[in-house]
Amino acid sequence: MIITTLSDKDLVSRFEYFGKMTLRYRYRVIGLLPEVAERKLYLRRGCASIFEYAKKVAGLSEEQTSRVLNIAPRLSDKPALRSLLEEGNVSVNKLARVVSIATVENEGELAERVQILSKSALETFVRDYRVACVPGHASAEVSLGDKPESESLFKQERKNIEVAPDVADQLAILRSKGFDIDQLLRELLAKREEDIQQKKDDVGKSLPEESGRYIPVRVKRVLMEEHGTKCAKFGCNKASHEIHHTARYGVIQSHDPHLLAPLCREHHELAHLLDVKYAEMHRR
Ligand SMILES: [Zn+2]
Ligand SMILES: [Zn+2]
Repeated sequence: MIITTLSDKDLVSRFEYFGKMTLRYRYRVIGLLPEVAERKLYLRRGCASIFEYAKKVAGLSEEQTSRVLNIAPRLSDKPALRSLLEEGNVSVNKLARVVSIATVENEGELAERVQILSKSALETFVRDYRVACVPGHASAEVSLGDKPESESLFKQERKNIEVAPDVADQLAILRSKGFDIDQLLRELLAKREEDIQQKKDDVGKSLPEESGRYIPVRVKRVLMEEHGTKCAKFGCNKASHEIHHTARYGVIQSHDPHLLAPLCREHHELAHLLDVKYAEMHRR
């Protein structure tokens, strides 16, 4: 058949079909690579190195080959992730992202996530996981209260904290009178936190039993007071994109502000992808 006689639709569908197959086979060939390297089978084909062999046979760049050879030994005690690599079910790039947080305990859970999350959602997931620093536990759900131990996260932001001259004057006067101004500010911040929680309790109690999809203004207002215009996820400074129901709205039909969080696009996507997977697992 002459290609030029194909309709646009047929041409593009053919292109995409073979494109998909190309990726699929590339993953498979990458999955076989560590074992071929280990058994030094490239020598039998007259190649001096696995890099030369992989390039010749499968068109893999040195970078791709060294990435997979780097990852493979780190998966030797992690059978679920290892089989994803060997069977070519996910890209090495995605595996490279999770391998940094994978442990013998969490690798099963990570193997599931790596299959359902998009690359950018996975990146966010891994970053959050590192921040949360919970050893051996793969849960980096949209847990909003978890404040990480590491202060280094805000080192940069801390440098930019400046107060207005009138505030500085008042603080200076207080300090000269012997007050511990750090302690005063800590108490002020704790009070703010307490007030917001109290308001959330009050707003939550005032909600009608039956509520539609529409989120009442007073709920939105208290969320705004708590999070400003940014994503509620700790450490994320992106603009909030949507108010997310942390308890699935389909199950608990409530707009209680304790169950709501404004999230950025990425964290919102992540929350829903994990949510869908969770629902699937429990339906089985
Ligand atoms: Zn949502
Ligand atoms: Zn976010």
